[in-house]
Amino acid sequence: MDFENKTVIVTGAGKGIGRATVELLIGRGAQVVALTRSAADVEALRHMGCRAMQVDLSDADATRRAALAALPADLLVNCAGTTELQSFLETTVEAFDHLIAVNTRAPMIVAQEYARALIREGRNGAIVNVSSVASFVGIPDHAAYCASKGGLDGLTRVMAKELAPHGIRANGIHPTVTLTPMAIKAWSDPDKAAGMLSRIPVGRFAEPVDVAEVILFLLSEEAAMINGISMPVDGGYMIA
Ligand code: NDP
Repeated sequence: MDFENKTVIVTGAGKGIGRATVELLIGRGAQVVALTRSAADVEALRHMGCRAMQVDLSDADATRRAALAALPADLLVNCAGTTELQSFLETTVEAFDHLIAVNTRAPMIVAQEYARALIREGRNGAIVNVSSVASFVGIPDHAAYCASKGGLDGLTRVMAKELAPHGIRANGIHPTVTLTPMAIKAWSDPDKAAGMLSRIPVGRFAEPVDVAEVILFLLSEEAAMINGISMPVDGGYMIA
């Protein structure tokens, strides 16, 4: 997969799956426009050769400004995401609204500006939205997270139908637990981790690069006929 002369927007590029995706893209010739939150990560991404911008994706107006500033671009990876561990009964409106803003609304806004520009210019493109197995499986203590990723999947499918006639594909990927800072927050309890691990037939959690390779495939020309799918990257976790 060759990304020479391609400019790729990656949100959540500072850490975890986003960072691994940036590293692979740069290694395969892409120019990366990185959107992320922490100033230290922005600095590190600049050192790696990215055009990096600091933005809080929970702020809709700031997200739209950053999306416009990130243009022009050929490809888009909506990877930024966040979680808050709360049981369903304890889920607060504040946490719910925050997760929807970052995990669902921000990908919509960034994709809108990206796609509008491509359509205006008559150019093709591809979007990968990083969802989760949590959009298919009810995971205790992840009510707002599961809802936010289910909402993202709805957006992916509508984008796939509305944008493909303009030459823009949209797909979702659904990782299982992936060893990143977010996973450490969610899965540091050994009993909880063991229960999850026992349901993954390949016998391990994902590494960020396992997920990043699939993101690059779905962005690539090799995936030209893949549109609107939900691709698990889960070692078989969702086998019925
Ligand atoms: P990390 O926490 O490792 O990285 C998330 C990235 O998103 C960070 O760079 C973070 O920046 C950025 N981000 C979070 N909130 C905001 C915000 N409000 N504004 C701007 N940037 C923000 O997460 P992962 O790499 O694990 O997750 C990446 C994606 O993969 C997410 O969408 C997640 O839901 C999904 N996923 C992860 C799984 C896992 O087990 N790790 C499993 C399934 C899906 P900062 O640190 O500066 O806040």
